[in-house]
Amino acid sequence: MAFPERFLEELVARNEITDVVKTYVNLSKRSGSNLFGLCPFHSEKTPSFSVSPDKQIYHCFGCGKGGGVISFIMEIENLSFPDAVHFLARRVNLEVPDDESDRQLRGRRERLLSLNREAARFFYDNLSRPQCRAVADYIAGRGISPASAKTFGLGAAPDSWSALCDEMQRRGYTKTELFDAGLAGKSSKTGNIYDFFRNRLMFPLIDVRGNVIGFSGRRITNDEKERKFVHTKETMLFNKSRFLFGLNLAKKTKLGRIILVEGNVDVITLRQAGFDNAVASLGTSLTEEQARLISNYTREVVIAYDSDKAGVAAAERAIDHLERLGVAIKVLKVPGNKDPDEYIRYNGAGAFAALLSGTGNHIEYRLSLIGDKYDLTNDQEKVAYLREVSEMLATVPSPVAREIYGNRVAELLKITPEGMQTEIKRALSRRSRERKRQLERETRPANIVQPKIRAMRYDSPVSAAAEEGVIRLLLGDPSLLRETGDLKKEDFTSEFLGKAYEYIKKRHEAHKPVSIAAMSADFTADEVSHLTLMMHKPASIAGAEKAMRDYIGVIRTEQLKKTEDLLEISRKYREIKGMEDKDV
Ligand code: ATP
Ligand code: MN
Repeated sequence: MAFPERFLEELVARNEITDVVKTYVNLSKRSGSNLFGLCPFHSEKTPSFSVSPDKQIYHCFGCGKGGGVISFIMEIENLSFPDAVHFLARRVNLEVPDDESDRQLRGRRERLLSLNREAARFFYDNLSRPQCRAVADYIAGRGISPASAKTFGLGAAPDSWSALCDEMQRRGYTKTELFDAGLAGKSSKTGNIYDFFRNRLMFPLIDVRGNVIGFSGRRITNDEKERKFVHTKETMLFNKSRFLFGLNLAKKTKLGRIILVEGNVDVITLRQAGFDNAVASLGTSLTEEQARLISNYTREVVIAYDSDKAGVAAAERAIDHLERLGVAIKVLKVPGNKDPDEYIRYNGAGAFAALLSGTGNHIEYRLSLIGDKYDLTNDQEKVAYLREVSEMLATVPSPVAREIYGNRVAELLKITPEGMQTEIKRALSRRSRERKRQLERETRPANIVQPKIRAMRYDSPVSAAAEEGVIRLLLGDPSLLRETGDLKKEDFTSEFLGKAYEYIKKRHEAHKPVSIAAMSADFTADEVSHLTLMMHKPASIAGAEKAMRDYIGVIRTEQLKKTEDLLEISRKYREIKGMEDKDV
């Protein structure tokens, strides 16, 4: 039986892989973002079994087993795919939909949406009630006007453990629905539910279709013991990494671009100051899905993150994601370590507009970051600066941009433009040499890990290594399919990798998420294990697009070689034939 997509997604989201694995394996070691323990699938004395919470996969470097949470349960409990799904569903109290209850699932979704809508209304109405006075005062104190509060549907969660749950149950919603919407927590001892958001300023999280899919709550006190923000947990409706606060409003802007900020309040303050085009990711750095979401609405993004260290790192990652989608990027540096909200409050909308018009693109931004590191009055540091700048400019794809910014740096350093261009060329060829070396290393037969199962073994290891590269890139970012041109399943020398390619392509074209976890249904355990192993290889230094082209280049070259081999054989054959003919 096929399980509904949304159900499987929810199942995997709720069964966090480290939680599940921990009940079988003592994960005592940490290395990077991975956790390690003794492999439950083979006997060993030192831990080679790893779990990656980021990728939600496990892998044993000893026996090669690996996969997502569903395949882990299949393997360790020795269950079929459907049985493993039931097992995990029971673990988190999730109802497994049978075919006809797919309709029910949709019904449940509608119920949760209307529950959220009513809750948002309840929170909003609280603003004018005496018991929520403190929240209303807090809103006013932050300079948010009543009109803005209404536009964003801000509200107040009362200082109570049951106000919302009581009211919504009175209106006919069940405890389960309140819990499933993330509005209620549940006591593990008694099973009783309680209000999840208490004594907080509430921001409804509204998607681009206008649905309330979750909430953020900000504490209204300075009490550091309280979390400053809490957001709705992952639910059937809400996935933080696919959501942007304010996009429902910003998508209507006439300003022609979108400003990306860190906080909800920044979005509100900006709108109040006349910038109706701001969106915020909820404190995480921009995910690939969020980048894609933005790119549906605009071709230009101004990043206005905080200028602290975390903000700078987050901006770098956002640039990476957006650049891949062909979105033009500018980066605005808010002076004095302030966020846009604070800046506007102290300096006014006009000052922010001035900052906006003066924003450089991301190359200028990166140049200024490097510039901050060196003292350019010192010759030695000047040389180091020149070197780092050249390395950075060598990563810029456009030759024209390289020349323009190169010239600017030359001017700054008082060296000739030609000198600067030579330096960049050197950095470029260093990069391309390093890239070539990396590609050679990767596709060297001795460095290729053959799949454990004989039937999956690679006949053409060089091509297979490149094919693995293609699949690895696509599993990381399926939108890279735009770079694969006319590459077909038949071009893969490994049947299994060809199948994976086709699978990713079909799912991506159907706008479905691609993940190893989801693949457990259609691929064998050995196939999933090998895919997981492939995912552990380091990324290419080339940048994803270039790496994709490199890999496809290798696949095509190997194809050509093969046809040439065939031609050679048939030539030899004809030669021998000819000799025989003469003999006759
Ligand atoms: P404020 O101006 O109200 O202090 P902010 O938006 O400037 O809030 P930041 O600390 O810059 O707050 O955080 C930016 C965003 O990150 C917040 O809007 C929120 O969505 C998220 N965030 C911050 N702290 C937390 C937390 N403790 N847990 C979850 N999310 C958080
Ligand atoms: Mn702030």
